[in-house]
Amino acid sequence: MNFLGVNSREEIKKLQEKGLKRIIDHVYNNNTSYRNKFDRLGIKPSDINGLTDIEKLPFTTKEDLRNNYPLGMSCVPKEKIMRIHMSSGTTGSPVLQPYTRSDIDQWSTTMARCLYVAGVRENDVMQITPSFGLFNGGFGFHYGAERIGCMIVPAGPGNTKRQIKFIEDFGTTSLGSVASYAIRIMEVAEEEGKEFPNLKRGVFGAETLSDGLRKKIEESLGIESYDIYGMTETGGVGCGIDCNCHDGIHIWEDHYILEVIDPKTGEALSEGEEGEIVLTSFTREALPVIRFRTGDIASIIEDKCDCGMPHRRISRIKGRVDDLLIIKGVNVYPSEIEHLLCNTPGIGNNYQIFVKEENGFHDLMIQVEGNISAVEIKKRIKENFLFTPEVEVLPNGRIPRNEGKAVRIIKNKEV
Ligand SMILES: [Zn+2]
Repeated sequence: MNFLGVNSREEIKKLQEKGLKRIIDHVYNNNTSYRNKFDRLGIKPSDINGLTDIEKLPFTTKEDLRNNYPLGMSCVPKEKIMRIHMSSGTTGSPVLQPYTRSDIDQWSTTMARCLYVAGVRENDVMQITPSFGLFNGGFGFHYGAERIGCMIVPAGPGNTKRQIKFIEDFGTTSLGSVASYAIRIMEVAEEEGKEFPNLKRGVFGAETLSDGLRKKIEESLGIESYDIYGMTETGGVGCGIDCNCHDGIHIWEDHYILEVIDPKTGEALSEGEEGEIVLTSFTREALPVIRFRTGDIASIIEDKCDCGMPHRRISRIKGRVDDLLIIKGVNVYPSEIEHLLCNTPGIGNNYQIFVKEENGFHDLMIQVEGNISAVEIKKRIKENFLFTPEVEVLPNGRIPRNEGKAVRIIKNKEV
């Protein structure tokens, strides 16, 4: 089976041009919410004749999906829906994603490609630790691995000692996980003095992985790690992954149209310019998103990747549009501070960043584990970001661990 799909940029361009036209017809004719939005701007499907016409189209936001909960943005009759997944926000209605049979097939195709690029083959054993439930992670990995035909261990989250036993008992070669849970597995394995000679790779999603953290996990577990991208709104995990050049995430452009915009003005930016990632899922059926504002800040990498795949790459996600902090007049994303912490020798496996907001300005208090002085950390942060936060150093193991996604940025809570 050809897991890689297309071979050239010309092929991608043709698919995108045809796909955009088809998907605009589909959403306009089958969903009132989309149609009203287009009508208000005076846009008809017949106005979309080429790829550059995408800029005429309105954006879709997380709010649009929330406001239309549960199925207000679905473009198919309910009887065609086979599955739903959703992500619960901290406030308001959840974001729901319905899937038709064709959507499950699209998801299997894109996830299988991600796993294939990470080196997963038929003779591998894939242990899946994200949950099998409303969160899309577990099922996404499952469909991809099933399409490849490898042996699946659908462990789900939690019970880390049992996960380690499974890795040993089944000779797990490939671990699917959210990044912070891989750290947990690493810590417990270290405590128990376990080594995993069969384990070759980890495919980590839902959280961005800094180079420092990636290196630490790779060395400790003896694996190569891959960063997988995707979210509930775009149809789940699997929009792209980094290849073994590990220099940016390839987005599967035969399924998603990739744009970067200025988050303030909404204007399209050129390759290489940093802005908000916008995706159009033009091969989805139940709920294709048109120009979905992901909130992720990154840029499109201009050069072709050494791996030879024609799909363009985005740079490391620098942060989220709504995460931007203003500290003593300096604009900074929490992930930039995380990146620095992860690359500072002496800092352990865990940290928390407490953010206090007052009138649009922020203050930081950082807690880390490890063998390093607070003064040293303050000095490093001052050198890089020109402000000095409060810092507290705790012994290893003192910061609470989660079995799912780690909670590292905590807003407006008294410490
Ligand atoms: Zn590549």
